[in-house]
Amino acid sequence: MKVLGLIGGMSWESTVIYYQLINRRVRAGMGGLHSSKCLVYSLDFAEIAALQHCGKWDEASVLLCDAAASLKRGGADAIVICTNTMHKLASVVEQHSGLPLLHIADPTADAIKQCGYRRVGLLGTRYTMEQDFYKARLVGQHGLDVLIPDECDRAIVNRVIYDELCIGLIKNESRVAYVEIVRRMQAAGAQCIILGCTEIGMLLTNADVPLPLFDTTVIHAEAAADWAMQGCVVP
Ligand code: GLU
Repeated sequence: MKVLGLIGGMSWESTVIYYQLINRRVRAGMGGLHSSKCLVYSLDFAEIAALQHCGKWDEASVLLCDAAASLKRGGADAIVICTNTMHKLASVVEQHSGLPLLHIADPTADAIKQCGYRRVGLLGTRYTMEQDFYKARLVGQHGLDVLIPDECDRAIVNRVIYDELCIGLIKNESRVAYVEIVRRMQAAGAQCIILGCTEIGMLLTNADVPLPLFDTTVIHAEAAADWAMQGCVVP
């Protein structure tokens, strides 16, 4: 089995979910007492969020590249960045580490296309919704059409992520607000929704909304586990 190097802590609330999902996937795939060989480098999210807020992505990339280098020294075979937003730095981290990086958008887009959808609504941090690093990959490499909420709704989605979900607060009023936003995206033509932030699955499930949800945390964690198990002979 290959060793996964997880860069987590962004926030740790979702890194915990990654760790559980990856191990469950390995148990399902290999049976018995098998579990994932992985390393977790958990960053201090307060430092990362402050750098994001000031647009100091170069400084954030130093932190992520150092984390990736540590994971490589520890024996990681691949890097998994456990957040959508910090995939803004994915190519820098991949190049700097010299390890393959399992990009969160790729298995997500594959899952959507397998279900026959093309026009997707994207929920995430304002960086993920508004900047190009994520949407351009979905559009350019995967041929999807990407809708984002309007400015007022983006502010709500972003605020709930940083002020609530990343500190483990799950509020019903925020769930209701997200459901309304999903409904507006459906009215705008979205066929499904990407939960493009690794904490949103803590708030919103398929039972809450009228459109299918593609939870990047689940999809990414399972794809990483599958990658690690490739070529393994199940006893
Ligand atoms: N975990 C979130 C994401 O998937 C937000 C935290 C971050 O800014 O990295 O984008």
